[in-house]
Amino acid sequence: MKALTWHGKGDIRCEAVPDPKIEDGRDAIIKVTSCAICGSDLHLMGGFVPTMESGDVLGHECMGEVVEVGRENTKLKVGDRIVVPFTICCGECRQCKWGNWSLCERSNRNGKLQAEQFGYPGAGLFGYSHVTGGYAGGQAEYIRVPYADVTHLKVPENLTDEQVLFLSDIFPTAWMAAENCEIKPGDTIAVWGCGPVGQLTIRSCFLLGAKRVIAIDTVPERLAMAAASGAITIDFMKEDVYDRIQDLTHGRGADACIDAVGTEPRTGASFDSVIDRVKVATFMGTDRPHVLRQAIQSCRNFGTVSIVGVYGGLLDNIPMGSAINRGLTFRMAQTPVQHYLPKLLDRVERGEIDPSFVITHTASLEEGPDLYKTFRDKKDGCIKVVLKP
Ligand SMILES: [Zn+2]
Ligand SMILES: [Zn+2]
Repeated sequence: MKALTWHGKGDIRCEAVPDPKIEDGRDAIIKVTSCAICGSDLHLMGGFVPTMESGDVLGHECMGEVVEVGRENTKLKVGDRIVVPFTICCGECRQCKWGNWSLCERSNRNGKLQAEQFGYPGAGLFGYSHVTGGYAGGQAEYIRVPYADVTHLKVPENLTDEQVLFLSDIFPTAWMAAENCEIKPGDTIAVWGCGPVGQLTIRSCFLLGAKRVIAIDTVPERLAMAAASGAITIDFMKEDVYDRIQDLTHGRGADACIDAVGTEPRTGASFDSVIDRVKVATFMGTDRPHVLRQAIQSCRNFGTVSIVGVYGGLLDNIPMGSAINRGLTFRMAQTPVQHYLPKLLDRVERGEIDPSFVITHTASLEEGPDLYKTFRDKKDGCIKVVLKP
């Protein structure tokens, strides 16, 4: 079959790889009908995620049709149409039973390796390095889904792929980012980053009752899309973000601040972002947490900082003095996707939200490597890419 594979920093190829096979009784093989490139795939492309190996199949946002089912899998049958959550979970361990699906205690085959880095391991993830289990991803014609009797969401035929595909990751992630802010009527929520997750976060904040959403980015088409969703926009290259939030909130700060950027912010608008860049380039640091610093500073007293942007290691110069003295609450997680699926599918079915509005590019798998670059360089108005294997 054909798949998008990783071959080192900046080197992604579409090439032939062996077809996946059933390895365990609970597995299923899915013929992928749609898959997407995620902002976090760019961290892999940039070479920022250790334990990638040449030839690894990429992709953790996909859906398709079940074409083969393991003997013990009684939940799925050939022909079922499913979305595949990016977090692999067994459904039986303590964390799965608690609903903390992204921290399944069984699905990460290389959990020991991850525990060395993080203290304790998380769940196995599709197409996201060997430290998360080394599972082949879904930017491919077929994918093997382990624990597929639990790791799936059946979707109705009357919804298009585009309407449900993002239930695999970015819509639940965006929803969690908003829900973690415990939004009350009248609240003002500031969202850093107007990529696909940021866009869906803005809509989620409004659906959860926010009065105002302030969207921060610098890419014109992203800001335009945020404004079309009803957000007040700030271009951080043209305005001081903290000052503008001050103006908008009578000097109090935003009720909650959401970091939907993570470790690779655009450098240049502030001194600390330049220092971060130098530190990472000289191996003196692992992450560039400029956005997190600004989110903390811009949050009102006893407000919430909600983090869904990806960080990987040790973050320098985080203003903990500000956070502690002003009583901020920090909320963050690798999204426990399954927890959000039934209610979000419901909202899509009821027509409250159609997540497909973020899609700007649809292409074949063969065009995937070029579109990775287009997406990375934010060229051609690119906000979200969907591939059709
Ligand atoms: Zn993703
Ligand atoms: Zn589990």
